[in-house]
Amino acid sequence: MKFVCQICGYIYDEEKEQVPFDQLADDWKCPWCGAAKSDFKAEAAKAEAAPVSVNTEEADLKKLSAGQLAAVCSNLARGCEKQYKVKESELFAKLSDYFSAITPAIEDATVENVAKKLQEDIDNYPNVRAVADQNDDRGAARVCVWGEKVSRMLSSLVNRYLNEGEAMLADTDIWVCTVCGFVYIGEEPPELCPVCKVPPYKFEKIEGRA
Ligand SMILES: [Zn+2]
Ligand SMILES: [Zn+2]
Repeated sequence: MKFVCQICGYIYDEEKEQVPFDQLADDWKCPWCGAAKSDFKAEAAKAEAAPVSVNTEEADLKKLSAGQLAAVCSNLARGCEKQYKVKESELFAKLSDYFSAITPAIEDATVENVAKKLQEDIDNYPNVRAVADQNDDRGAARVCVWGEKVSRMLSSLVNRYLNEGEAMLADTDIWVCTVCGFVYIGEEPPELCPVCKVPPYKFEKIEGRA
């Protein structure tokens, strides 16, 4: 049987490896992206999308919170930057800062709650994806695919942190892929981004950690 990393798509082939997936050590990690064993799924087990009803009221852009708008604007700023639209990128970055500044502080901002929120996100993606498919909206479907990847990746990291604590970050660096946002823990960036396959110079080291 084959097992697929839900973060980067690495395939563990039991036949080639000669070791059943079940028998790998609990702390075995994805050789490409460092995800835990629990982030792998048997290849045949593809999730069936649950039927959905579209709530147009929730889809209304005006109903987005300031925090959500900050994230949208920050993404648009990145998108403009990639297309060499410097001025537009600056303006979206300014808007993003504005929305960030008026976002109320979250009182229960614990790592556990972040893990919970990410899991809710992951559980909800098949529904959002089904709406996109129903409406033949390929752009939205693509956003869902990437969004789910990012949520799974962050969830994997947060859960590792919950299990391993500060030890996970001791004597190592944190790298972020500037193209897809993949986060990598290690002394050097990976040879290829496991998610979007760009070379290591596209990775930025996260500086200034306490
Ligand atoms: Zn992986
Ligand atoms: Zn990447």
